[in-house]
Amino acid sequence: MKQLAQRENRWMTDVNHRLAKTLVTAYGSHTLYVLEDLTHVTFNTDDLPKSLRNSHRSWSFFQLETFLTYKAQAIQSTVVKVSPAFTSQRCPKCGLIEKTNRHHDTHEYWCNQCQYRCNDDRLGAMNIESLGQEWLNGARHPKIKKLTTAG
Ligand SMILES: [Zn+2]
Repeated sequence: MKQLAQRENRWMTDVNHRLAKTLVTAYGSHTLYVLEDLTHVTFNTDDLPKSLRNSHRSWSFFQLETFLTYKAQAIQSTVVKVSPAFTSQRCPKCGLIEKTNRHHDTHEYWCNQCQYRCNDDRLGAMNIESLGQEWLNGARHPKIKKLTTAG
């Protein structure tokens, strides 16, 4: 068991190294990489395949972040971390934050206010990108704020 885990960790480390290298090679210097700050996040592992449950996903994510930051800085690029709050719940079109708009079973986000529809991963990426834009506009800790307390 222990040996298997070590082998898997080495494999993941190698994947992360290559992924970080691919990212910095693909986008070059003076790129802004926007990552969700997952420091205080506990993953809902129900969504993950059995093999990725427990702390595995966060461990590999932090490693990728470390590699990417190191490689990006070497070529004058920047890695920014933004709050993950509501990134999978905000409609990019009308701004509504609604948890039930996300349909896990179909991997789809469907806004019940403006009827905007897209893939849920894509939605998260769009919201993270807009937080990166806020960072460029001067916000030091970009975060989606839920304006109403209702719901
Ligand atoms: Zn909407």
